[in-house]
Amino acid sequence: MGELEIRDLTKVFHDDGGDIVAVDSFDAEIEDGEFVVLVGPSGCGKSTTLRMIAGLENPTEGEVVLDGEDVTEKKPKSRNMAMVFQSYALYPHMTARENMAFGLKMTTDLSKDEIADRVQNAADMMGIGGLLDKKPDELSGGQQQRVALGRAIVREPEVFLMDEPLSNLDAKLRTQMRTELQELQQEFGVTTIYVTHDQTEAMTMSDRIAVLDDGRLQQLGTPLECYHEPANRFVAGFIGSPSMNFFDVELDTSGATPTLIHDAFEYELDDDVYADVEGHGPRLTLGIRPEDVKAVPEGTHNAISPTVKVTEPLGDVSYVYLDIGGEQYTATLEGDIVIESGRTLTVQFPQDRIHLFDGETGEALR
Ligand code: ATP
Repeated sequence: MGELEIRDLTKVFHDDGGDIVAVDSFDAEIEDGEFVVLVGPSGCGKSTTLRMIAGLENPTEGEVVLDGEDVTEKKPKSRNMAMVFQSYALYPHMTARENMAFGLKMTTDLSKDEIADRVQNAADMMGIGGLLDKKPDELSGGQQQRVALGRAIVREPEVFLMDEPLSNLDAKLRTQMRTELQELQQEFGVTTIYVTHDQTEAMTMSDRIAVLDDGRLQQLGTPLECYHEPANRFVAGFIGSPSMNFFDVELDTSGATPTLIHDAFEYELDDDVYADVEGHGPRLTLGIRPEDVKAVPEGTHNAISPTVKVTEPLGDVSYVYLDIGGEQYTATLEGDIVIESGRTLTVQFPQDRIHLFDGETGEALR
């Protein structure tokens, strides 16, 4: 088993400048075998959250409960969790085999043969069975990372905790290791909490994503939930690439049709969309993903005709950067489209694709 309950986990650091709330009341229930990715901008509290779960950092408040047992006060090595770091943290004077066996020798009473078996099995699984007698400086970055992962696997933990384990690898190897890690995790079915600031990693690897900002959990959901139904403006802007376009608007209900007023355009709302924002505002934020912006004929209802700044054809799609009211926005259009800079392009934000947020709190209304 590896069912993890994280209750109200909080960390306040004290330094000369005052108190820093690194993690603020983090709550989550993580199922046995689940792969959860903690994602968010630099300094949002990802590593501190992971380190508190591992026992490497004492929480100011809150509890970590593993399979019904409160482990908050337990030492890291007594928690049945294995941590993998970005920097591999291998002992340079030991061979790969000794590095992988070290933790087992220190923390278990397994026999020499049992340890040797476990190390060999894990190494074979990681594709480094033939490299066990080499020292870290004789191994490539990818091989060192495999040793570090192997060292976690041999412990047969209930939970894997990984802090940006792939960020020191080049792009190609990272993609390859990403797939391998996922396969490994599925094969073992070990609960995994994985920290990254790379949203592609978060979207592709996880069962659920925990999006953090400023020490607070903003949303815990499947990748598609976070993409289609972001809880607030922060999540909407963080998940998805290129990022969602946001417009500060005012809701005007004085006329026959409720209308969003932006400095550069007006947008009439359908009844069902209005129903979602009725009673809110007047300040709202209109959000539309670049891939949802539609090129339409001039004169289409709710369409606008901004100037094109630049077009970037990528082959399958093209990014078109538009000037709307002096700000830059992005439309992702299908195919190889080349539009001369300075020309206008008529676009529409389809009513069923728009997102609306409270202009003050950022809370998603639709
Ligand atoms: P990154 O992606 O840059 O690693 P992160 O999301 O993992 O960032 P944390 O390392 O958890 O963020 O840091 C959260 C906040 O706590 C930051 O403001 C950081 O400066 C602060 N912090 C972390 N460790 C300490 C410490 N030992 N003493 C004081 N402040 C700390």
